[in-house]
Amino acid sequence: MPELPEVEITARRLSRAAAGAEIESALAPGMVTMKTFDPPVEALAGRTIAGVRRAGKMLVVDTGELVVLIHLMSAGRLQLWDDRASLRDRASRLLIRLEGGRELRLREFGTQQRAWAKLLPAELLRDDDAVATLGPDAYPAPPLDEFARLLDQPRHLHPLLRDQRTIAGIGRSWVDELLWAARLSPFQKGSELDRDARERLHAACDEVLGAALEHYEQVIGDKVPDKLPMPLQVHRRAGEDCPRCGATIQAIHFKDYVMCYCPEEQTGGRVLKDRRLSRLLK
Ligand SMILES: [Zn+2]
Repeated sequence: MPELPEVEITARRLSRAAAGAEIESALAPGMVTMKTFDPPVEALAGRTIAGVRRAGKMLVVDTGELVVLIHLMSAGRLQLWDDRASLRDRASRLLIRLEGGRELRLREFGTQQRAWAKLLPAELLRDDDAVATLGPDAYPAPPLDEFARLLDQPRHLHPLLRDQRTIAGIGRSWVDELLWAARLSPFQKGSELDRDARERLHAACDEVLGAALEHYEQVIGDKVPDKLPMPLQVHRRAGEDCPRCGATIQAIHFKDYVMCYCPEEQTGGRVLKDRRLSRLLK
């Protein structure tokens, strides 16, 4: 799933390329993509794109009085194309056709339709459920005392940091990287962090997410590719050597994601139980 650095670079690139472009027409081939019906998506015709920005892990296409709020979910991509999508393209979810034949296209890989969009009056964006419930951005990280207050919850760090209401922008990939950078167990509770641990995690937000964004700025050209070259150190690297201490990176498999960590530096040398095994035995 695209997270803060991926969505941010997408917004920056799209904004650079599409700002000022007039919208000729818009349609939503995805039957369940649009979560709003009034105003209809056709109301975008004739409007001008002012820019594209990020809200948490979502994208906002600004067109003055109307905005399009888009959640890519796990398999969606918002890209600018030089041509129009074939109407037979089953990946198309929302097509915003621009002057000159270009098209801002929301596509989704796979058969599921989970990516969604809302067309909202700009003044209502802030009050929309998906936006109103967002915590502060993980990057740049909020001031340390606010950060400490946000994390002061008796919940494991892994789900806590991924909870967009607590802090916005972190998902299943970058949470592993942040915890590894801060040398913290995914199963440590937010409310049990000492001052030093909180400071390390706070610094990790700025360093890790900032470095990821910087990396994308260097390697991503005008077009954002389907698959971003994520500079990951531990996530998806189970079985490889920890780049810092050389221990073998371990993984815990959950139903729809994998948690990776360095046992030497994050869990006091303990290899945690992989729940995949217990699930197979059920
Ligand atoms: Zn290590």
